[in-house]
Amino acid sequence: MSSRPAVLVMIPGVAADPALKARPAFRLVDEGAPQLRVTDLAATRGDGVFETVGVFDSRPANLTPHLERLQRSARMLDLPALDLDVLAQAVDAAVTAHLPVPELLVKIVVSRGVEGQSRPTAWVFADAAPSYAAARAGLRVAALDRGIPTTAPQTSPWLLAGAKSLSYAINMAGLREAARRGADEVLFISSDGYALEGPTSTLLVKRGNRFLTTPVDAGVLPGTSLGSVFELVRGEGAEAAEELMTLAQVAESDGAWLLSSVRLACPITHLDDVELPVDRALTDRLSAAIAGRK
Ligand code: PLP
Repeated sequence: MSSRPAVLVMIPGVAADPALKARPAFRLVDEGAPQLRVTDLAATRGDGVFETVGVFDSRPANLTPHLERLQRSARMLDLPALDLDVLAQAVDAAVTAHLPVPELLVKIVVSRGVEGQSRPTAWVFADAAPSYAAARAGLRVAALDRGIPTTAPQTSPWLLAGAKSLSYAINMAGLREAARRGADEVLFISSDGYALEGPTSTLLVKRGNRFLTTPVDAGVLPGTSLGSVFELVRGEGAEAAEELMTLAQVAESDGAWLLSSVRLACPITHLDDVELPVDRALTDRLSAAIAGRK
């Protein structure tokens, strides 16, 4: 048994177009050995797309929605169409090859490829997930201006608002600013004053018997975790909808969470200086739904 049981699968057959495919479609490689050219556009421009999938009890949660979202992001970046069957097989190979652990994190990455070669590079990387116990217990969240309006997807699609591109340096800078403000996390606010999403998470807000989130066409990523949560709460008779909300409306709500595939449902305990109510039992049910442990 290796001390670091991460698994890496390279996927030369990621493109749907047979002319762009190399063989074999995917292969397990030594995760410690070099695999990327320094001129790969993933490295030089962050030019590509990715997904992070949670694996609970050896089962990837929401794999099909993740792969469909990867295809959507690829389309938004004018990347070649992806072969989702090959990607699903590569994920399965990575999960199967990994030592069983309660929670596994699987990253799927597709870049535009080596400069000048017009052929995407892709890989799947699986590793044991770190402990998210502190975040799942509750987050202090700083509201930060993202600097673009909710109309950006319509007026300026080249900003790629709502695509899961590899260019996450801004999102990470937001997290460092939150830390400087004594917070654990970020809620980005649009320049026209509406709550958007976290750097790696979707906003969920409870108001009475209504569960609300930011509309996707305001420039946020369509969350796969949100899909599971909306299915759960609708099944229990609650209303689930997209609605633009101001920061004040989130702060006055009956509870708010940041949702994501690996960290699951993290209740917001404080939004800037405002304390929010936390429902532990509901939070656990939301997390179970995201993890597929219904
Ligand atoms: N929004 C952004 C910007 C993200 O990066 C992520 C996930 O990393 C999410 C939302 C949550 O998406 P999901 O629930 O599919 O993990």
